[in-house]
Amino acid sequence: MSLFKESEWEIIFEETIKYLRDLIRFKTVNPPGNEKPCAEYLAEILSSNGIEPKLLESAPGRGNVIVRLTGTGEKPPLLLDGHLDVVSAEPESCWKYPPFSAEVQEGYIWGRGALDMKQAVTANLMAVLTVKRLGIKAKRDLIFSAVADEEAGGEFGAKWLVNNHPDLVKAEYALGEIGGFSMETAGKRFYPIEVAEKGVCWFRVKAKGEPGHGSIPAPESAVIKLSRAIAELGKNQLPYHLTPAVEEFLKALSSKIGGVQGMVLKLLLRPGLADFIITKVLPDKKLAKSFWAMLHNTVNPTVVRAGEKTNIVPATAEAEVDGRLLPGQTPEDLLSEVGEIIGGGYELSVFKHLFPASQDPKDPILKIFEKHLKNYDPEAIILPNLIPGFTNGSFYSRLGIKYFGFTPLRLKPNESFQELFHGFNERVEIEGYKFGLKVFIETVLELITDF
Ligand SMILES: [Zn+2]
Repeated sequence: MSLFKESEWEIIFEETIKYLRDLIRFKTVNPPGNEKPCAEYLAEILSSNGIEPKLLESAPGRGNVIVRLTGTGEKPPLLLDGHLDVVSAEPESCWKYPPFSAEVQEGYIWGRGALDMKQAVTANLMAVLTVKRLGIKAKRDLIFSAVADEEAGGEFGAKWLVNNHPDLVKAEYALGEIGGFSMETAGKRFYPIEVAEKGVCWFRVKAKGEPGHGSIPAPESAVIKLSRAIAELGKNQLPYHLTPAVEEFLKALSSKIGGVQGMVLKLLLRPGLADFIITKVLPDKKLAKSFWAMLHNTVNPTVVRAGEKTNIVPATAEAEVDGRLLPGQTPEDLLSEVGEIIGGGYELSVFKHLFPASQDPKDPILKIFEKHLKNYDPEAIILPNLIPGFTNGSFYSRLGIKYFGFTPLRLKPNESFQELFHGFNERVEIEGYKFGLKVFIETVLELITDF
């Protein structure tokens, strides 16, 4: 069953592709973002379709567009969220086609933002336009938000909205990035759906030692002490934690893959064995690192500061560490795990914290995603997923909104979302995008009318 005839879909696709190409051509690289012209473009499309948008400027040049299609109010709203900013495309010479020209070549639309996430903003827009044009009186309000500044931490986008205009975005459910794209492995086609994401806990490790002259040995200097701590952190031996999302992910993945591979994956559910399996057994080291991040808090020392002159032993040395928290974990939990590893004698202080977010990996909304994916891809298998990075979901979940990453897309078997995302030659395949658009619009319609 399809909502429209194929010829009707073709008209919708044509409009969608025009909007997506236009969005890519706005250079919204963050920093500085400069999303305002792009937000105005969207606002213009919405108003010309009889929907009155709110254009909110969180700071000069930082545009956010919000619209609401009012339903009967029988059920709480559904929010469709996307961000307008993109990461840098430098050096542009590494691209096959210029990153902001939105070329249509080889069956793809090429450009920065083609996957992260202007294709999804466009799909969100098309869902809103479709509901409006069909004159559907839904049970839920449908809210559309296209926001600034996700890539640099949400200060002028989702975080700003949640802090300053919570009533505009308050909803029961939100659909955003990252999930719904196909991933082929062991002859099966999975569609991971973000149900949880890690939080951020950036902290400093400070070591102190006796200052002195560089000509006299100083084995307990601040620099030497700090390097010992860094070396310990580099071993990444923080303890294992199984969270509900990852438990569901591993159970579903292992049972669908089956055989020896499935059995090995199942062992990741066992605290005493998982670390050994990840570090010593899994042949694919890249995959092993992803599993590690799903089952542990992680720490990455990234900035080191100490000393000014070669012949002076400094009194202090410090490192900034990018720490990531699993759902259920607090900065205090992480610092205590770090303390266990590096030992005493260091000052640890947190300077940035974003909460992890997690939804019930058995939430009934997943069945709706599955139903509509299977409608166009009978072999689709959905996987609740925890992502190691953070999205706007971190902010929306503070309002109690259940955020799920669902921007359906059928990728070619040899394509990896992870590699195209933030990479050179970011692109979206037109056929796979059409598939995703059908699934998405039909999912949204069911969510606001029957769910
Ligand atoms: Zn993104």
